[in-house]
Order: sequence, then structure tokens, then C-alpha cells
Amino acid sequence: HDLYGTARANSKGINLDDRPQLDALTQALAQQQSKIWDLACLVSGARTGGDPMAVKSPTDHTETVGTIRPALVTDREAALKAALKAQQSWNRLGGKARADILRKMGAALENKMEVLIGLMVREAGKTLSDGIAEVREAVDFCRYYAMQADAQFADPTPLPGPTGERNELMLEGRGVFLSISPWNFPLAIFTGQLAAALAAGNAVIAKPAEQTSLIAAYATELFHQAGVPGDVLHLLVGTGPEVAAPLVEDERIAGVVFTGSTETAKIINRSLAARDGAIVPLIAETGGQNAMIVDTTALTEQVTDAVMDSAFGSAGQRCSALRILCIQDDVADDVIHMVKGALAQRTVGHPGDPVTDIGPIIDEQARAGLEKHIARMDKEARFIARANLPSDLQNGTYFAPCIYEINSISQLDREIFGPVLHILRYKAEALDSLMDQLAATGYGLTCGIHSRLEGRWNSLFEKSMAGNVYVNRNMVGAVVGVQPFGGRGLSGTGFKAGGPHYLLRFSIERVRTVNT
Ligand code: NAP
Repeated sequence: HDLYGTARANSKGINLDDRPQLDALTQALAQQQSKIWDLACLVSGARTGGDPMAVKSPTDHTETVGTIRPALVTDREAALKAALKAQQSWNRLGGKARADILRKMGAALENKMEVLIGLMVREAGKTLSDGIAEVREAVDFCRYYAMQADAQFADPTPLPGPTGERNELMLEGRGVFLSISPWNFPLAIFTGQLAAALAAGNAVIAKPAEQTSLIAAYATELFHQAGVPGDVLHLLVGTGPEVAAPLVEDERIAGVVFTGSTETAKIINRSLAARDGAIVPLIAETGGQNAMIVDTTALTEQVTDAVMDSAFGSAGQRCSALRILCIQDDVADDVIHMVKGALAQRTVGHPGDPVTDIGPIIDEQARAGLEKHIARMDKEARFIARANLPSDLQNGTYFAPCIYEINSISQLDREIFGPVLHILRYKAEALDSLMDQLAATGYGLTCGIHSRLEGRWNSLFEKSMAGNVYVNRNMVGAVVGVQPFGGRGLSGTGFKAGGPHYLLRFSIERVRTVNT
């Protein structure tokens, strides 16, 4: 059994540096540009929901990407009843058969790569390279959890016992899971949550972020075509408070898998705790206050590349993104100079344009939040730089990335989810205390260090709360099965997504003892 997925096939990519591949992709996207999608909730495999709502693109609010029909109360009840009924047969189907279906889903995602990228560019404002990486991650999740289902959920594990007694340990699904996912990885996290819950033998009701409902609806259709029965997987779109919250409160839901903000995770946690009936798990992956430490032994060019990728890639809309760059004061001016120069070279633009490095912010509310933050930074911090925003982008929710220097970590009391980098200088003798202060924020998602001193890596690893620690590289883009991803404290519950233990939280262990 390959619990760590080492024999897994690599997902297919598209090389944007290869002219024919790039041309084929841009032509495929151009053909889709005028398509108006018409999607809906999926309950027992049937399209349903209320009146169609227009979905606008963050790239241009005059562009309609499609329409989606939000869930009605009756859809919720119908989905839950059907899922409860289908739960046992899906669980009994066994790990091998479920793994086969997930592998088909991986292949379907690969086959539809260009459609998925096109949809992500238009609905989520993903750049081409982010879109490709996201499809690959979704494929990897399907294949990885399929291997886990094969390894852990197919056959019972024999246990020792006295002569004449047979003991077996087996893993089973817990029941109907509620999946609540964010907009920032609208395909990969949505697919990953579903693939994990399904692999472990659970029926699922999925509530994706409202902003990216079309991508979720399309992916759900692919799951059904791959062989997941309509009664086993339902999609309900709409807002979290309206659609997901009543299900969180419902005792018939056997577990919740959530990725999103720390605040929402706490609301869900309180709501689950207040329920009568069984105690059920909340698997939560939440926000971060991620830092990178740079000392005088670091290579400035390497730091600059790593900072650009980590702070401004995906327009900073990654949970793993760099928020606080801590630079030893002796080299701070040099590093700031390089980072400033590199930011000036980055192109903010339409995400479908191959030259674009940084696309839009997801919506007006998110952009307004960022503008409010930098208005505060303008008063309380030192302005370092801001990228250019081309004038032809006014119709989209674009935001010029920027850099500020702060005096203290306490100036940031929450996660700033966008392309704003905060720089903090430290003195060599204050490094230990800086590491303590970072841990004291309570977040523990990612952190990075650029140093040639192995002792420093080790001391950061010991002191930091971060679930994923990166040395002398960027701190984003965790690969399924290679860097299992997730944090602790305010950043999540664990186990890590894309890791060998993730499916265990979706399952129950049972032991059968037979005296033969
Ligand atoms: P969010 O506002 O917390 O929303 C996440 C999901 O929760 C959405 O589907 C949302 O629905 C739903 N929701 C909102 N209120 C709810 C409630 N009262 N009950 C049940 N569900 C509710 O987060 P987001 O803005 O979509 O995503 C960005 C956040 O996700 C950032 O904090 C980021 O760090 C975090 N994130 C973490 C990871 C990780 O692996 N640790 C990965 C990606 C993102 P609606 O929004 O549609 O109403």
C-alpha cells in the first residue's frame, strides 16, 4: 500500500514558455470568452435552485460570466435526505471502487483543463499560470486521495490475537459531510475537500464560496460524470449564513470540512458545539499571519524572487502568502531596494493576458477592505512603494500592490488578504524575541527564512508555530503529497491537506473480533 502516494502519476501541465502550447491555450480561452454559463445547484444530480443570478467577472464588472441559481430551503432539505439515504451504500462500495471513481475525476479535470482555466480567469480573476497550477492541484488531490482510499479503506487490517480469534481494524466514513470552501482556490480546495470526504466513504453536501459558484457547479458535474452518484454528492450555492449555517446546526450532518477565514471557522465551531446529539469533527483550514526572516547571510537576489512570489503571486490572495518580511537592519536597505525594483517590473493586468503577473482582487468588498488598510498604513507606517495600475482596468476590481515598513508586529492585528507587503527591520540580538513575537500572534500557517546558518533554520523551526516552514525559497505553492499543507492555532485544526493522515479525520475506526 502506497500511503504516501510516491507512485502517483504526475498531473499534466501547460508550458507557457512554449509558443505552440501558449497559442493553443490562448486560442481556446478566446473561444470561450463570450460564453454565458448557465449553471445551478445540483440535488440528486438534478439542476435546481431559485431565480438565476448574474455572475460578474472581477476582471470587468460589465462582463457577465453566466448565471447561477441559489439554493432554496427545499433544496437543502432534499439534498440532506437523499445524502443520508445514499450514505451507507457509498460507504459499503469500498475504498477501491471509490478510488477508481476519483481517478476518473482526475482524468476528467485534465481533459477539461482549458475550460477550467478559462472559467477561473473569468470568474475568479486567476492568471494563466495560477489557473494551470490550480487544475494540476485538483488532479493531484483526486489521485492522492484515491491512493489513500486504496491503501486505507479497501481491506481490513488484520491485528494480532490469541489462537482462534480474528481481529480486524477497518476505516469507514462518518456520515454526511458538509464541505464549505473559499473563493481563492475555487477549484483545488473545492475538489480536494470533496475528494477526501468521498474517498473516506462519506456522502457530501458542498457549499462553495458564492463568488465562485460557477466553477464549483462545473466541477460537481464532472464528479457526477466520473461516477459519483447524484445522491452521494450535492451542490448548494448561496451565502454561508443562509445556506451553510443551517446545515452546520443540523444534527444529521456528521462532520464539517471548512477552508476560509479564522472568524468564520470560529462561528462554525461554536455552532457545532451548541448542537444537541453527537460530537462531530470540524476540519478547518484558516488564515495566517505569515512571516519571512532574512539575515545578513541571505542571498539578496534569491530573497527578492522569493518575496515577489510569496507576497504578490495570486495578488496576495493565498492563505500561505507572505505578509511580514523581517529583515536584519544591516542589509535592510539593500533588500528593500531590490524588492522595490522588482515590484516596479511586475505587470498588473487582465489575468488572461500571458504577460500579466498580478490579476484582480476577488470583489469590491475585498478591495475596499484593502484600501482601508492602506489608508491606515499611510498614517501609521512608512510608505515604500506601490506598483502601477494601468488606466484601462477601471472596470475590474484591481488593486495596485504596495509595500509599507512597520515598526512592530502589533500594528497588524489581523490577516490582510491581498498584495500588501509589510516590512519590519530587526537587530541581530533581537532575532529570538522576534521569533517569539511571531509565534505569539497565535497564527501558525507558513513561515520562511533566508539564511546560510543551519542553526537559525532549526531555531525558527523550534520556535515557530507554522505548519509549513520554508528555507531559502518562496513560501507558497505547496504540492500535494510533497508539502502536505495546513497549520495550527488560529490557522487550522490539521491534519494536513494532501498528506498521509488527512483522510483519518473524515473517518471512524472500527474493530471486529471474531472467535472462530
Ligand atoms: P470566508 O469569508 O471565511 O468564507 C469561506 C466560506 O465560508 C465561504 O463559502 C462562505 O460563504 C462560508 N461562510 C461564511 N459565513 C458562514 C457562516 N456563518 N456559516 C457557514 N459558512 C459560512 O473566507 P474567504 O474570504 O472565502 O476565503 C479567504 C480566507 O480563507 C482567508 O482567510 C484565507 O487565509 C483562508 N484560506 C485558508 C486556506 C488554508 O488552507 N489554511 C486556504 C485558502 C484560504 P460565502 O462567502 O459565500 O457567504
